[in-house]
Amino acid sequence: MFISRVVLCSLMLTLPLAVLGQNAAPSATPKLEHFDPTLTDQTLSPCDDFYKYACNKWIKANPIPADQVYWTTGSGLELWNENVLRETLEASSANDPKRSAVQQKIGDYWAACMDESGIEAAGLKPLQPELDRIAALQSKQEITLEIAHLHHLFPGAWEQSDNQTNSPFFGFTGQQDYDDASKVVGQIDQGGLSLPSRDYYINSDEKSVETLKKFHTHLQKMFVLVGESEAQAAADASTVIELETAMAKAQMDNVKRRDPKNVNNKMSLAQIRELTPAIDWDAYLKAVKAPASEHYIVTAPDFFRAEQKLLAEHSLEQWKTYMRWQVIHRASPYLTKAMVDENFDFFAHTLAGQEQQLPRWRRCTRAADRDLGEALGQAYVDRAFPPESKARTTEMVHAIERAMNADIENVTWMTPATKAQAIVKLNGIEDKIGYPSHWRDYSSVKITRDSYLANMGQASAFEFERYVAKIDKPVDRTEWTMTPPTINAYYDPQLNTINFPAGILQPPFFEKGMDDSVNYGAIGMVIGHELTHGFDDQGRKFDAHGNLRDWWTAEDAKQYDERGKCISDEYTEEVPDAGAGVKQNGLLTQGEDTADNGGIHLSLFALEAALKQQGKSLDDKGPDGWTYRQRFFLSYAYSWCSNIRPEVARLIVTTDPHSLPVFRIDNVVSNMPEFAQAFGCKAGQKMVRANACRVW
Ligand SMILES: [Zn+2]
Repeated sequence: MFISRVVLCSLMLTLPLAVLGQNAAPSATPKLEHFDPTLTDQTLSPCDDFYKYACNKWIKANPIPADQVYWTTGSGLELWNENVLRETLEASSANDPKRSAVQQKIGDYWAACMDESGIEAAGLKPLQPELDRIAALQSKQEITLEIAHLHHLFPGAWEQSDNQTNSPFFGFTGQQDYDDASKVVGQIDQGGLSLPSRDYYINSDEKSVETLKKFHTHLQKMFVLVGESEAQAAADASTVIELETAMAKAQMDNVKRRDPKNVNNKMSLAQIRELTPAIDWDAYLKAVKAPASEHYIVTAPDFFRAEQKLLAEHSLEQWKTYMRWQVIHRASPYLTKAMVDENFDFFAHTLAGQEQQLPRWRRCTRAADRDLGEALGQAYVDRAFPPESKARTTEMVHAIERAMNADIENVTWMTPATKAQAIVKLNGIEDKIGYPSHWRDYSSVKITRDSYLANMGQASAFEFERYVAKIDKPVDRTEWTMTPPTINAYYDPQLNTINFPAGILQPPFFEKGMDDSVNYGAIGMVIGHELTHGFDDQGRKFDAHGNLRDWWTAEDAKQYDERGKCISDEYTEEVPDAGAGVKQNGLLTQGEDTADNGGIHLSLFALEAALKQQGKSLDDKGPDGWTYRQRFFLSYAYSWCSNIRPEVARLIVTTDPHSLPVFRIDNVVSNMPEFAQAFGCKAGQKMVRANACRVW
């Protein structure tokens, strides 16, 4: 998934690619999960722990497969989607001159990736030119051009997570200007690490120290695999950790990074030259073919001050070691079994608890979706997203937008002036449903059957250059940052769009054959969640045109912050399942938690209106003897039932702005009198919170 903006709020947790490079769903037959209220655990009370009540039986019946790090009711869909892609890839892979240009690309990409014996026979040969380039560097001045080269070479160089850019030294890309969203400017971001976030380098608890030790062992093994002696490899491992730790210390933390004001630092090229003179910025910008930018956004100036010091203080040899590691590490998933296995052992097994690798076909399907997603996505849409699905989900989006309109009109804590502005913003939101209006042109990407690593490098360079080329050009409003088969959704504050890929408009989130109560509980909540992001603690700072502009009166902003604080206090809590002493930071998850709470309210209002049109009410009995209100909440919980390995739970709590599923259900419903009404819960029971929070 390509995330190009600092504040882009999605639905699902998004584990770093480095961790999940090998991961996805199971290796069994694809099985779509369907809402089934007989799965409720009648030995428990819904008013005591609703998540357990709705999910306990499912959780017990669905242990995590060995090649997974978590398993949810959506995981069967993940495998189902991948199977559709696999069939398309296989059908295109025969070396037939009659293939279309798109079929040639996806088919040959697949063939090269699946050719394990060819990859084994080539050994480290595909990597050697990159190692030679680094070895040939003669001076620190030459590092700049090598950085530009590395930024083209690997997927992720243009990516940003909530923590950093996943890129050696730093990240560079084109993004909409915060103050004038009609312009695209150059953006320079912190990066440089290979572990998922700065916390992994600087936390001093026992578990973190132990993980860093294992990281050292992993580095050493990888250096040995490319031919170094044990002693040299151990020394090089220490050098890499020293440099990455220094960069980690200089990074802005993920809570501070959530406030767009903190990352909106405009600088001229002259100021950037002064900030980090050790990098030859003119040479870098020329090498990445960046159009001249009116100004640049430097997300974390302190990071670049520190990088200046590091580049000055450390020797060329040390930096060559760091670059060698970056190349080896990032290329390893595309090379020999020994490299793939060692990479898996640390990044997926040690960091995320995954026991086994996915079969080869699943890794290749995922890589093809990442690298040629809109070529492959066309076939997915044809197969899996019929016009009826598009029509019904579009109607649901409109219904939930009407519910948001009514909610804004009805809240008591906003003045008419701010309400009017909020309605302008709501009316300005563009809905994107299923797939893009026109497909990306990959004709310049050269894909052959010869080298998986080279194909990945081609696709990566294409994507990097595509983002950089946006600088100083008109904004393309039709772009998506997720591919059509993706099981996720997002709000983009700078385009002011909500986006729902076809991949999530499937069971158990959306099902053509189910009644409205089930669909509004699952996909309706997702739609409401994305819509609410336009008005969460980040989204509310952007206006209808995507500009970072304060449209709130001071009094209304204060009222908002009080409500937001209620949410962030509520979600700051111990998470024993993720390890002793692990605590969720409600300031990090505030936006997502606000979106969950708002999303379910909006969806319930929309369901109520839909039922009214059919002459029914929420408390009428629906199928199976449950009321529509009960089915709505049960479907909501069911769509989040999950088993998660403790290593991953810890990773999520530390780095991810989404709360764990249990909180995404129990905290939300305990804030809602509408839930208490559904199941007859009384004050004093756990799912009835004395100090209930409500923003939207
Ligand atoms: Zn979200």
